[in-house]
Amino acid sequence: MSSDQKYNSEQVYSTLSTVFGFYSFRPHQEEIVRAVFQGRDVFAVMPTGGGKSLCYQLPARLMDGVCVVVSPLISLMKDQVDAARINGLSAGTLNSSISVEERNAVGDALRRNRLDLLYISPERFNSEYFIERLKTLRVAFFAIDEAHCISEWGHDFRPDYLALSKIVREFPSIPVTAFTATATQQVADDIIGRLGLRKPHLTRASFNRPNLFYRVLRKQEFDTQLRLFLANHNGESGIVYRSSRKKVESTAEMLQAYGIAAKPYHAGMSDADRHAAQEAFSRDECLIIVATIAFGMGIDKSNVRFVVHADLPKNIEGYYQETGRAGRDGEPAECLLFFGRNDIAQQLRFVDEIEDEHVRDIAKEQLRQMIHLAEQSGCRRVALMRYFGEEFSVQNCNGCDICVDSRKLEDATIPAQKILSAVYRTKESFGAIHLIDILTAANTEKIRQFRHNQLPTYGAGKDQPKIFWRAVVDALIVQKIILIEDPLRPILKLTDEAWQILRGQKTFAMRKPAQNYSDKTKSNQQISGTKIPFSEVQPFSELLFGKLRELRTEFARAENVPPYIVFSDRTLHEIARNFPRNAAEFQMIHGIGQHKFAAYGQQFLEAVNKFCGQNPDEATKWRQPQQTLQHLPANQKNSTAQSSTFLETYRLFCQGKTIDEIVTVRQLTRGTIISHLEKLSESGMELSADLFFVPERLEQIKIWFQASGETLFLKPAIEASNGNLDYDEAKLARIFIKKSVTTKGTRDIEYEKDTRDINDRSDIYRSR
Ligand code: ADP
Ligand code: MG
Ligand code: ZN
Repeated sequence: MSSDQKYNSEQVYSTLSTVFGFYSFRPHQEEIVRAVFQGRDVFAVMPTGGGKSLCYQLPARLMDGVCVVVSPLISLMKDQVDAARINGLSAGTLNSSISVEERNAVGDALRRNRLDLLYISPERFNSEYFIERLKTLRVAFFAIDEAHCISEWGHDFRPDYLALSKIVREFPSIPVTAFTATATQQVADDIIGRLGLRKPHLTRASFNRPNLFYRVLRKQEFDTQLRLFLANHNGESGIVYRSSRKKVESTAEMLQAYGIAAKPYHAGMSDADRHAAQEAFSRDECLIIVATIAFGMGIDKSNVRFVVHADLPKNIEGYYQETGRAGRDGEPAECLLFFGRNDIAQQLRFVDEIEDEHVRDIAKEQLRQMIHLAEQSGCRRVALMRYFGEEFSVQNCNGCDICVDSRKLEDATIPAQKILSAVYRTKESFGAIHLIDILTAANTEKIRQFRHNQLPTYGAGKDQPKIFWRAVVDALIVQKIILIEDPLRPILKLTDEAWQILRGQKTFAMRKPAQNYSDKTKSNQQISGTKIPFSEVQPFSELLFGKLRELRTEFARAENVPPYIVFSDRTLHEIARNFPRNAAEFQMIHGIGQHKFAAYGQQFLEAVNKFCGQNPDEATKWRQPQQTLQHLPANQKNSTAQSSTFLETYRLFCQGKTIDEIVTVRQLTRGTIISHLEKLSESGMELSADLFFVPERLEQIKIWFQASGETLFLKPAIEASNGNLDYDEAKLARIFIKKSVTTKGTRDIEYEKDTRDINDRSDIYRSR
């Protein structure tokens, strides 16, 4: 059982870096890992891409016995097994898709207690035989992935999952952990109840995905808009969601006709065709997939760079899940929603077909919320977070179309008056489409029927295109000058403010839309942000990235796995940014653990060097001068300092920057920079104490640490100091105190030698 295995922080961190190649935990991962080591049941809600797998894979690697992972789809299992194996974990699956040899090998590993992870499908738990066999093995804990599938309230209910309620009864002494990205409380309660979790450790991560850029675009000439968007994402992989099979087919055909390789995916296709499409997408052989929402779960592809919703989603929950498939690797990705008023009517038709009245009402309310999200004037992220019950308050999220809109407000009082007057003269009983038809002198059935061609406003806006008038109506709605009482029946009503504008007592200003879609450069800016102004976006050499991607594909083909399993986009971006020149530098890149380094390191290093030879300009532009890295112990596998974030801190440090300067440059906290130094020191970087402390001060801090009898934790020493030591300083001092303990005398002597000729000792705690 698990409870006899202590949580060992050093061991856990070293596994995180050497096996997984990460330098720090994502939010909540560490607390979950800790709970697993304590032998507790766990229920964790984390958004897609939040890093749920690591929460059970890491303990599975360290704990005795196998972790049994329940996963809903066979395709998902294969990817996860591949990904785990590439990191050097021993993983296997037992399902109908594997060969006899594979099955025997997995069975053998299980019997000999050599397997870290066993992936199985839920229906296995219906088999007495399987359960009895499992009881003869050493099971560390169970991990139930996509746990919402057990709830009828969830959006992916799978009856097979009900068999999982047996686990707690059949294996009463083995902890059960459950993971989901589904947010609602009702589903959460349902999962915990049905699985019978026992006082589980509960985690609910923030649903904010800072690397996703949210954009809503008025749907006007959809085909053109989509092609422009895709042109801006050339070479990137993404999903275009459509609301029906027919639309999926027509959009895929349209794109193909323009030479854009896109494959359709919907439930009406044969299993084989769907499988082939998904495989091609997953392996970067086909970059764009046009799909219904049937395409979703089972897509663990981490380098999806954009998700387009070409039609209005049914609800925010679904929209969030689908957009969540973008940017799992943490690199910037874009989520574009096309919003057209005609879509409301179409969705409403789907909703009206629901028979159960209660369910229908819920669906209507959800649709209203979705429309509201698309139509409001505030930050999209704030609105999305609010839906999930999270307060997210920033001045500017820098990651949505509203927050980064730099177009100037311009006076549009006269156009506004024209619209408002049309609303008034049609007795506040029509929607935007009809009103715009009136202004632009359209000749429609409805206009003739209501004799609206006889109104004084008929044709009053002929001088502008419809696209302009839609923008004016949108702005009036967003600024709450026109009211829509029910988003599902979008009839425009006048407010007091509207009357003031009509009477000329108030002016109206809005941001003007781009005039002309054929003007590519101009409309590009409006349609898509290739230059997403995220603060964390860092440039890299696109040229080298392209080469690295080819190499990645070669490896992936040879090993018959998707490319993102070999290396994530983020890893390649970092290589193309840092241009590592030797093993030590290479291993500091994000996502490169020992196993991956052994498998691919040499070839990738060679590729970088070759590239530098062939592209001297790029090399000079990106590659840092050699001497800044010379202290770094070559070919020594360091356990923690592997990421370029350390590399960056290290570089600045070598340039002679003080901690405070590094804090300013890197926009990180002091504590984080000190952590970097700590890790760098552990991995062999020479740090001299006198850069930070006068000897007396360090001696004093050492005494406090000694009094507390502890160097693993800082709190006891801080308490022993009686308010004379703060967290950051304690952490910084520990670097040297630990060293002098572990390497005994030699360090102490060096330390004395180092400090002898320091003359400036006036400041107690130097700022460096
Ligand atoms: P989820 O199942 O929650 O949607 P995954 O487990 O598939 O998410 O992880 C998403 C991505 O995040 C993967 O590419 C994974 O390698 C990466 N990842 C997980 N944990 C970390 C971490 N601590 N640091 C950096 N990347 C991580
Ligand atoms: Mg997952
Ligand atoms: Zn925003």
